[in-house]
Amino acid sequence: MHIVITNDDGIDAPGIHALAKAARRFGKVTVIAPDQNRSVSGHGKAIGRPLRLDPRDFPEADAAWATDGSPSDCAAFAGLGFTDEPVDILLSGINPTPNLGSDLTYSGTVMAAMEGSLWGVPAAAFSIDCARMNQNLIDFSAIEELLPIVIKQLTAFKEFWNPVLNVNIPALPWKEIRGIKLTHCGRRTYKDVLVRNKDPFGRPYYWFGGDPPESIPDEGTDGKALADGYVSITPIHQDLTEYHLLKLMETQEWRKDPENE
Ligand code: MN
Repeated sequence: MHIVITNDDGIDAPGIHALAKAARRFGKVTVIAPDQNRSVSGHGKAIGRPLRLDPRDFPEADAAWATDGSPSDCAAFAGLGFTDEPVDILLSGINPTPNLGSDLTYSGTVMAAMEGSLWGVPAAAFSIDCARMNQNLIDFSAIEELLPIVIKQLTAFKEFWNPVLNVNIPALPWKEIRGIKLTHCGRRTYKDVLVRNKDPFGRPYYWFGGDPPESIPDEGTDGKALADGYVSITPIHQDLTEYHLLKLMETQEWRKDPENE
């Protein structure tokens, strides 16, 4: 099996090394990752400029490349034949903060997995619930036990169109994790504020920021499972349609030119 691994935190982040180490027992591992932190870059791609790929030493992989592109660019390299060997699975992460509910479109980690699936590569994104902890102090060891389970399921459903699994892991050793819950995306409340200030030259600048978002703990959601000490696994796809609203809207009249009809 050939597994490509990417992330949005950059090729030197501890999480991608932990993921590659866990993946290697399943076959050949190629790392293609951004050369620096590209968190919260969503599904951004490089258009209108060339990309570079530089070989890197990466003890946990068979080959590794760093690029000045985005996480989704890395996934596109995997899906569009940069590696001579076909890619069986794309894994993204491990992100040091959770990616839940409405976070997903912000997330470079999750959107890289989505990009992989666009090119027919089954993909999973991994995040661990360690907001604001020093990344070097995070215990990523649960991935060793969890990855075989996720890969087995990804393989089982690979005939399904574009499987993408969004996996969130509690910041606990494997034996303290209560289990695995299959979930749907929940709601998040964001605490960003607009900060206005002046730079040393007197020019105004603006900065969005604040406390980390919080999950509304509705039953069956990713945020509730994670808060309860479970691994949350959500199957996701590209279809952003709001089906409930679509159904309601279809009961209304939508005439192009109501005045003249
Ligand atoms: Mn990140």
